[in-house]
Amino acid sequence: MMKSVVLEKKGKINLRDFPDIDRVEEVLKPREVRIKNHTVGICGSDVHYYTHGRIGPFVVKDPMILGHEASGTIIEVGTEVSSLKVGDRVCMEPGIPDPAAQATRLGIYNIDPSVQFWATPPVHGILRPTCVHPEAFTFKIPDNVSFAEAAMVEPLAVGVHAATKAKVKPGDIGVVMGAGPIGLVTALSALAAGCAQVYVSDLAEEKLEKAKALNSAIIPINIKSETLAARVLRDTDGWGANVVFEATGSPLAAATVFDPLCPGGCIVLIGGQSEPIQYDAGAAMVREARVENIFRYANVFPRCVSMVSSGSIDVKALITRTFSFHESIEAFDVAASAPPADIKMQIVLPN
Ligand code: ZN
Repeated sequence: MMKSVVLEKKGKINLRDFPDIDRVEEVLKPREVRIKNHTVGICGSDVHYYTHGRIGPFVVKDPMILGHEASGTIIEVGTEVSSLKVGDRVCMEPGIPDPAAQATRLGIYNIDPSVQFWATPPVHGILRPTCVHPEAFTFKIPDNVSFAEAAMVEPLAVGVHAATKAKVKPGDIGVVMGAGPIGLVTALSALAAGCAQVYVSDLAEEKLEKAKALNSAIIPINIKSETLAARVLRDTDGWGANVVFEATGSPLAAATVFDPLCPGGCIVLIGGQSEPIQYDAGAAMVREARVENIFRYANVFPRCVSMVSSGSIDVKALITRTFSFHESIEAFDVAASAPPADIKMQIVLPN
């Protein structure tokens, strides 16, 4: 049995012994590693399963361990593991695709229908002492990257994937709708990819203050007091932004997503949608806009680790609260209350 953070059902979390799902007594497969988990970030999806019991087609039917943004230390390696050794500090990519699947072979393994992704029912998450993981989805972190930063690589990967699909070019003007964790990692990724400036919009002044403090090239826009599109068009002599990232999932935001976009620009839809969103296909047409959709990420973890290590992306300021493992239930209750000044909360396991 392993002490784990278990979502029993909608609205009920326990920190309790859970049957061993990691084959503690078993020999590892040749290309597997065993990891002592260190830091786990709380994701909006974990909180949504807690408060709503489901996300789209994924429904919590049985008790499920939460968490998928993780770092830790290698404590055992399989016989054929060559890139990792005992004692290495690592971060883990939480989705394991079927290596034989068509999507995996095409390199788009994030949309392999059979991918097994932590804390997406019925797959258990990582808020537990140890895990067994494939070497191929486990990434060594340099000494100058902390466990806390390493646990930010997972959400950062969404932003880097979004900036990659947007094909950001040096000097582009970007817009990010939504100053939550995904919006802010997207803004940082767009800047690292070459954007000259990124407008970040939100309703919460506290979040916009955080956004502004991240980078002097971020321009916060409070849509309570200013119209995003009007400001972007005014600042760009009426031309508009090259890329607009929608990171709210809100139907209201999606309805206006083309307003600040320049002709020939790109829209990237990232926000998790708890209700169906609609956008104006006519507005897309007259701009010949490219519309990209993001589902998690593929092939970007090593890039994220490199950028965090080099300092080209600094995620430290996004981590606004840290809880110990025995405070996990409180942590989820605080996260569910969505304090406006918080971006990312993390849980540190006993070490
Ligand atoms: Zn996440």
